[in-house]
Amino acid sequence: MAPELSFFDTHAHYTDSAFDDDREDMIASVRAAGLIGAVNCGTDYESSLECIALAEKYDFLYAAAGIHPEDALKYSPDNMNKIKGLMDHKKVVAVGETGLDYYWDQVPRDVQKENFIANIRLALETGKPVIVHDREAHQDTLDILKKENVPAGKAVFHCYSGSAEMAREIIEKGWLFSFGGALTFKNARRAVEAASVIPMELLMLETDCPYMAPVPLRGSRNTSANIPFVAEKLAEIKGLDAQTVCEITNENALRFFGIAK
Ligand SMILES: [Zn+2]
Repeated sequence: MAPELSFFDTHAHYTDSAFDDDREDMIASVRAAGLIGAVNCGTDYESSLECIALAEKYDFLYAAAGIHPEDALKYSPDNMNKIKGLMDHKKVVAVGETGLDYYWDQVPRDVQKENFIANIRLALETGKPVIVHDREAHQDTLDILKKENVPAGKAVFHCYSGSAEMAREIIEKGWLFSFGGALTFKNARRAVEAASVIPMELLMLETDCPYMAPVPLRGSRNTSANIPFVAEKLAEIKGLDAQTVCEITNENALRFFGIAK
């Protein structure tokens, strides 16, 4: 593993209770490991505030504010308005995470859709990109993003789990993809196939930490320090070296989130 890799984590949850015991030490250690920036994603209004508080503490941490599909029952125009009030904060770089989750299916699908659409419209209104969570809801997710006319460069499918065929539709729209630990899993044939057809300029790296630790650490608590395993895997798929993968995906992340170098 090249120790001098520098990488951007486009999707993290450092506010998660899994980090309560050692958050500061852990953030210092991932910074030392090569992390140049990370976006912590909110899942509702309160957790979005926590992401912002963390971003105020560390110059290399940023925040996304939005309502996750599993929290979609919290959606109301009033609650969305509160989230809108966060969008002017200088460390808030995206709306999210939001989307559709038909795997857990705890929240009625029409409620999830209403929430997803409201989050997208907030992104469109504020000019921010939207971080999309799509779990076993590929067609509806794609249909809604298309119907809402989300512009090129303004949406990312986080932890992309769709087919290569669906990826081609997303590529045509100019939306982005991020991959994390799941790309390294033994059963990741579908993700590997999808990654192989996606142009490098639409790819970003992520952890979704504390979840989704890559092989060989699968099942343990994930942190951004494990991103090089994902970079190595993507490099292998693309016939590049990990350093080049990091350089390109870092550029993509800074551009996507509108972060000045
Ligand atoms: Zn997430």
